[in-house]
Amino acid sequence: MTAPQGKVSAKKPKAAKPESRLAMVRRARRINRELAETYPYAHPELDFRNPFELLVATVLSAQTTDLRVNQTTPALFAAYPTPEDMAAAVPEELEELIRPTGFFRMKAKSLLGLSQALRDDHGGEVPGRLEDLVKLPGVGRKTANVVLGNAFGVPGITVDTHFGRLVRRWKWTEQEDPEKVEAEICAIFPKSEWTMLSHRVVFHGRRICHARRPACGACPIAPLCPAYGEGETDPEKAKKLLKYEKGGRPGQRLSPPPDYPGLPAPPLGEVDAPEA
Ligand code: SF4
Repeated sequence: MTAPQGKVSAKKPKAAKPESRLAMVRRARRINRELAETYPYAHPELDFRNPFELLVATVLSAQTTDLRVNQTTPALFAAYPTPEDMAAAVPEELEELIRPTGFFRMKAKSLLGLSQALRDDHGGEVPGRLEDLVKLPGVGRKTANVVLGNAFGVPGITVDTHFGRLVRRWKWTEQEDPEKVEAEICAIFPKSEWTMLSHRVVFHGRRICHARRPACGACPIAPLCPAYGEGETDPEKAKKLLKYEKGGRPGQRLSPPPDYPGLPAPPLGEVDAPEA
């Protein structure tokens, strides 16, 4: 379209004011409250019954989906229920059991190393301190925070791919490095919120705010989101993009918590599995 002839206003439109730190913090906390209402049942999406199982499952979750880990661990923990059992495993047998999670040789090495360290240095128990956890083979800060937050009740923020993508979309941080992201997000929220915030953000990333096609037109926090419009804004089309348990889809866990409103995930080999 050509510009209309005649008088043209010399005034430039006002550039939007940059958001103050205080306004961003308030907006971030409102998003957290909104997510808490949307996902009151948010939880870690790895199946586990004790700290050892959570530690092993988290190590296995590198470069694969939580679903694939959950489908793999029942047979693994039936064979090796304790660190002592796993420490004495025949490497090839352990590799075979965890093969579906990918990178199975490297992961088997980590699992053998960490179970031996638990057996020899920690009396067969998973330690509840960050500094001890990160010394275990194959355990980085992210894994340690998952274990601390969910098996020991120590508040922590877990920066995975979903978490990093969403907090950058929301302009809570511009950092790319997970440790820097963690530090900046910790500074926005009280400690008591850290663990549940991590779950809610990951839930939102898996169900609505996807990497490639976020469902903006069906997103409960659209009015608070600077990235609104990056995805589908048409409400009907956006609805079709949702991967949401309330629409009857199975979750990632084969044994979800009792308040979970969706279906349990199917065992390994069965169809109708959800994506990451
Ligand atoms: S409005 Fe769009 S980009 Fe923003 S959180 Fe929702 S789905 Fe993600």
